[in-house]
Amino acid sequence: GDTALTVEELTAQRERAQAEYEALAAKGLKLDLTRGKPSPRQLDLADAILGGIDRPVAADGTDLRNYGGLVGLPELRAIFAADLQVPADQLLAAGNSSLELMHDAIVFALLGTVPGAEQRWADQEITFLCPVPGYDRHFGICERYGIKMVPVALTPEGPDMDEVERLVAADASIKGIWCVPKYSNPDGTTYSAETVRRLAAMTTAAPDFRIFWDNAYAVHHLTDEHAELADVLALAAEHGNPDRVFVFGSSSKITLAGAGVAFFGASPANLKWWQSHTVKRSIGPDKVNQLRHVQFLRDADGLHAHMRNLAELIRPKFEAVDKILTAELGDSGFASWNAPTGGYFITLRVPEGCAADVVAKAKAAGIALTPAGATHPYGDDPSDSIIRIAPTYPELDELEAAVAGLTVCVRLSATEKLLG
Ligand code: PLP
Repeated sequence: GDTALTVEELTAQRERAQAEYEALAAKGLKLDLTRGKPSPRQLDLADAILGGIDRPVAADGTDLRNYGGLVGLPELRAIFAADLQVPADQLLAAGNSSLELMHDAIVFALLGTVPGAEQRWADQEITFLCPVPGYDRHFGICERYGIKMVPVALTPEGPDMDEVERLVAADASIKGIWCVPKYSNPDGTTYSAETVRRLAAMTTAAPDFRIFWDNAYAVHHLTDEHAELADVLALAAEHGNPDRVFVFGSSSKITLAGAGVAFFGASPANLKWWQSHTVKRSIGPDKVNQLRHVQFLRDADGLHAHMRNLAELIRPKFEAVDKILTAELGDSGFASWNAPTGGYFITLRVPEGCAADVVAKAKAAGIALTPAGATHPYGDDPSDSIIRIAPTYPELDELEAAVAGLTVCVRLSATEKLLG
């Protein structure tokens, strides 16, 4: 904030925060804001998916109980194609987890040779760019396979493209970038049309550079104001880089997080390469679950209607978080946060050097938060200032109690820090 507090004012604030913190800790709360999971009530809205299937037969007559159909059920791919911005014949429907597909894409590129590559990635040093704050499980895959990670700032327009363009032009070891282009985890950012164009068009030193386009929140609007995302696959093709993009998505946060359907979209050459690996891995996905999804969602309109019903459950939680943060921290100068119009997360920024302390204080008071630093490669947020809030899972009253408690921890940590 721009109001400089005197030492006396700060001391008074710290003492008040200390007293509030002691009262908070005495409550013995047991609350959890850690992971972006759908609430049981969200899952209830998809309960119909658990019902029986009358005829396990595809539109083309295929018996879905049997093996086969590596590309997934065409009628389900057709439902998701427009929202994932991938032509249906270039969109594959797979198992229940898109993270698994991202993991496999990395492994296939390490052990096979992606179109455009001179060598397998396993035979060279490779680096991925990681817009931060970002999704910890992306970084976990890189860490697991010894892929070096270089953070780049995520601006309100998307990754800092001056920096991205400079890095990828200069260094052929940079093979990829992780992107959550719409309602990003955790910032709720949607990349601008110009950012998407630059990603699609930029010159990369690596001929086998890939954008890992994790469009996990493509349809997860919270309001009627829908963020628009440019079509990266079409733009890449237009700019002569048709094989640059791997698109991922899933219905994990649409239907059932543990039993949804994941999607992979790419150019024809990439798909051929992809299937040359997956054909060795499986005789075909769970097409019965894919049919359940078709019968439940019916079409793109049905998907959108379901998302509106989910938003009715989720939006009040986002509003409650914003309201409490505003009331308790609004003019403290100790915090800033975003009010996303979609996705699953809110990013809370606290004074430099306070995030880990806030998370520790909250934990000691029975409020579990995602570890500070999780939003950065190697778990290292150099400013130690970013806290991810995941509001969807708890019931509203629990969420309110947890966020109110969190604000006490922020005020205590910030005043302690400022007083030194
Ligand atoms: N990608 C992002 C950005 C996510 O936030 C999540 C879950 O939180 C996932 C992927 C996981 O997707 P899936 O359930 O399809 O594996």
